[in-house]
Amino acid sequence: MVHQILVIEDEPTLSRLLTYNLGQEGYSVQAIDHGGEGLKMALRQSFDLILLDLMLPGMSGFDILNNLRKQGVLTPVIILTARTAEEEVVQGLRYGADDYITKPFGVAEMLARVAAVLRRSNSDDGVTVVSTDENVIRAGELLIYPEKYEAHLNGESIPLRPKEFEVLLYLVRRPGVVVTRDDLMNVVWGFDYIGGQRTVDVHVSSLRKKLEMNQDSVQIDSIRGVGYKLIGTVKK
Ligand code: CA
Repeated sequence: MVHQILVIEDEPTLSRLLTYNLGQEGYSVQAIDHGGEGLKMALRQSFDLILLDLMLPGMSGFDILNNLRKQGVLTPVIILTARTAEEEVVQGLRYGADDYITKPFGVAEMLARVAAVLRRSNSDDGVTVVSTDENVIRAGELLIYPEKYEAHLNGESIPLRPKEFEVLLYLVRRPGVVVTRDDLMNVVWGFDYIGGQRTVDVHVSSLRKKLEMNQDSVQIDSIRGVGYKLIGTVKK
């Protein structure tokens, strides 16, 4: 599979350098030189990685990153930052960037960082989570509507209880990452809930059964003694 990379960078020389070298390495690259257009592209299409400049016309790289993460788009992002700007790096990582490259950079270093981030994100068992707008998140074939508390698969609604839906939503926003039962308990039921972890297990188990009924759906993997993880479609 050829990895799709989006480069959002307004400096033509740098953009060409990135596009050329990533292309030589075998990646499929699209480049865009405007912040707002870059965000639109990142929301509309599914990429494996985004290289993101911070100072851009139209919209800053921070705003793009913040926007993507708020909308549930978890595509790995490497920010391109000035060598001296440590606070930029900190801010970028806080907004959910996966790594950073300081300008000017060597081609070998840039390619190594790209490969490392792609390697990490490929260990997510193949769940692609994208959000086309604020109201819908797509996880594999599953469509999730956070506002309506609904999940649809192949055009049909999956009947979920509210807490099951909240568990699903939390897992979907962290694809491939192990979520502990404590996390789920605190987020979905609240810190002051006294029902215990058994409640979490009962809900997850019921949710799992509903998802497993359809092989096109993402599935929930149980990590013994720790918690749960969203994994990709089970193909047989
Ligand atoms: Ca710039």
